[in-house]
Amino acid sequence: MSIEASLKERSGNKCELCSSVEELKVFSVPPLEEESADRALLVCTDCLLQIEDEEKMNINHWHCLNESMWSEHAAVQVMAFRILKRLTSEGWAQDLLEQLYLEDETRKWAEAGLPDENAVKTLDSNGAELADGDTVTLIKDLVVKGGGFTAKRGTTVKNITLTDNPQHIEGRVNGTRIVLVADFLKKA
Ligand SMILES: [Zn+2]
Repeated sequence: MSIEASLKERSGNKCELCSSVEELKVFSVPPLEEESADRALLVCTDCLLQIEDEEKMNINHWHCLNESMWSEHAAVQVMAFRILKRLTSEGWAQDLLEQLYLEDETRKWAEAGLPDENAVKTLDSNGAELADGDTVTLIKDLVVKGGGFTAKRGTTVKNITLTDNPQHIEGRVNGTRIVLVADFLKKA
């Protein structure tokens, strides 16, 4: 039986997080060790979009975890745990997280997929997170030492690269690759 078929059978053809029956997809829970039904769950597109993009999180949607976190399937428990972890500013989510019991092995798996809290984010002047490939605008004139020119305020820098230093990014201005201070940039 295919993974999808066994998940459909297991779930009764429903999203294993919110019970929706709309547009169900197989979601393999990262970090992926093997493709198997035990490592995956059936989710609806609504849940999937929010799992994949934290900025799309609709807090009220996730009251469904109140029930689904009690699933006997580890993959469902793991996703419930990770989603609740994103919502700990909500009292009810914090309560559920405290009630959620995970076997040691499941807990390890669940925690392996959490964002690295030690990783420091690179933020622009407005506090927006910057990522490789972003386009930014300079918010002040910058004298480029060694470049012999001034990068003017309002200059657009495309396809930036993050560096090991969260205050600095690299980008190309006037054909020269330079280091820019994140505080002087605005995400375009
Ligand atoms: Zn769902």
